[in-house]
Amino acid sequence: MHLARFPRVRFAHLPTPLEPLPRLSEALGGKAQFWVKRDDCTGLAGGGNKTRKLEFLVGEALQQGADTLVTQGAVQSNHVRQTAAAAARFGLACEVILEQRVPTNAVDYNRSGNVQLDDLLGAKARRVPAGSDMNAALETVAQEVRDSGGKPYVIPGGGSNTVGSLGYVECAVELVTQANALGLVIDRIVTATGSAGTHAGLVAGLALIGADIPVLGIGVRAAKDAQETNVFKLALATAEKLGHPERVTRELVVADCDYVGEGYGLVDHDVIEALKLAARTDALLLDPVYTGKAMKGLIALAKQGRFDGETVVFLHTGGAQGLAGYQSAL
Ligand SMILES: *Cc1c(COP(=O)(O)O)cnc(C)c1O
Repeated sequence: MHLARFPRVRFAHLPTPLEPLPRLSEALGGKAQFWVKRDDCTGLAGGGNKTRKLEFLVGEALQQGADTLVTQGAVQSNHVRQTAAAAARFGLACEVILEQRVPTNAVDYNRSGNVQLDDLLGAKARRVPAGSDMNAALETVAQEVRDSGGKPYVIPGGGSNTVGSLGYVECAVELVTQANALGLVIDRIVTATGSAGTHAGLVAGLALIGADIPVLGIGVRAAKDAQETNVFKLALATAEKLGHPERVTRELVVADCDYVGEGYGLVDHDVIEALKLAARTDALLLDPVYTGKAMKGLIALAKQGRFDGETVVFLHTGGAQGLAGYQSAL
């Protein structure tokens, strides 16, 4: 595996810190040691997990001579905000399609948080109803850009294709390198899993370097079967891009989708409790859509004894920039 073979631009603050969570570990019973990989600190206009993916995606866009990034996401998408920021950094135009996926007319959800930042960063946004065909919408916007003489580069939702996943292959290598330097044996990695690129990249990267560290994805939207199938397909395709598809097997992909609650982007009591616990123990700012749900799952599983005796690294994928959009829901 040789990531330098792929086009890439550099703007992420790397390596992100790997830090112990002593107070959270104690609050959860002290039988497991929790650590955090701070990918909320990737540095691009608030940072988050899409930044690593965008280094490879924008690298390819520039190589192709694109002048406009086109992408899509939910109204409070962190991916859209980070794409808008990356476009600004390279003087590219940015066209985004926001799906009204979360059923709410709340002013904060629709105007604050990531929405405000997208606008500040200069992205041109349009909105479509929940359930719209987002891939068709991306193609429509890309065609509009071409018709007006531009060169679009289309980034799928969440930046989750094999190019974006390379960012999390790299994260896997970075994390294992840090653990080796510290003499820290990692028994498990826990991450939120949504559009699948993060989870898939980690699984592919760990398999390619032979690290034998299991990854548990906590789902935020889809049911377990669908989520695992998506992650496996992308992990396999990513490993294939790197020349070793045989290293990624179906058993390596595990998602627990029991903590979605009412649905994507909808907050429940346990999510709020998870946000408070992470903030009030080790001062982690989580978000209600992804990392809060993942922490809700981590807390429940820790209380069931599922991590007893283990050292568990929680991947903090970012998202706190969306908190302002959830002020009323919280
Ligand atoms: C997008 C996102 C995720 C999920 O990552 P995927 O690669 O889409 O699975 C997790 N946390 C945050 C904060 C995100 O914005």
